[in-house]
Amino acid sequence: MIRKKLLNFKLKLPFFVSDNELERFRASAVPFRERCPFCGARGNCRFYASYERSIVDIVDGKPCWRILKVVRILCACGHTHALLPDFVVPYKQYTLLFILHILHLYFSHSMTVQKLCDTFWISPPTLYEWKRAFALHRSWWPEFVRSGRKDSLDAIIFFLSRPVFSDFTSGFWQQTLFSFLQTHANPANCCRLPPGW
Ligand SMILES: [Zn+2]
Repeated sequence: MIRKKLLNFKLKLPFFVSDNELERFRASAVPFRERCPFCGARGNCRFYASYERSIVDIVDGKPCWRILKVVRILCACGHTHALLPDFVVPYKQYTLLFILHILHLYFSHSMTVQKLCDTFWISPPTLYEWKRAFALHRSWWPEFVRSGRKDSLDAIIFFLSRPVFSDFTSGFWQQTLFSFLQTHANPANCCRLPPGW
């Protein structure tokens, strides 16, 4: 998997993946420019396949299905890699921005759990899974730990206010080999740190 940095700006409420980001992702998927995460070679990748993936985003305050076209590339070493934008959490339909938005509403007590779940088409176990992942992952980020923040609302605001959000997501991936708020393990298809981050 190769993560593409698409959130090169400071996030603003409300968060959603605009058509502009989807177009930038399509334009960024250039196989021969990528470095293979397995062998480390750059320029040896070519287009292999593509597939459409449904993602759930928030548009005008409501959940909305979007279609993301994911490109898989093949390196001369024989390994294939999906190009995935950093606004998507691997193995999840909900975008990273969607999950952060829900956690912000939850921690700020803007809605009851039932109201949150009804409004955004999620189940309480899903919400609590995101909450657990956030509690764990924030403890993995040294800058946050050094900040001394304990309150969950302070914590979510800390991450939402990163000056360049992609710098944070890429740094997190480099340090942990986990995407922020990812809850399923990576199939280990890389022998090196992710390149290009
Ligand atoms: Zn390779």
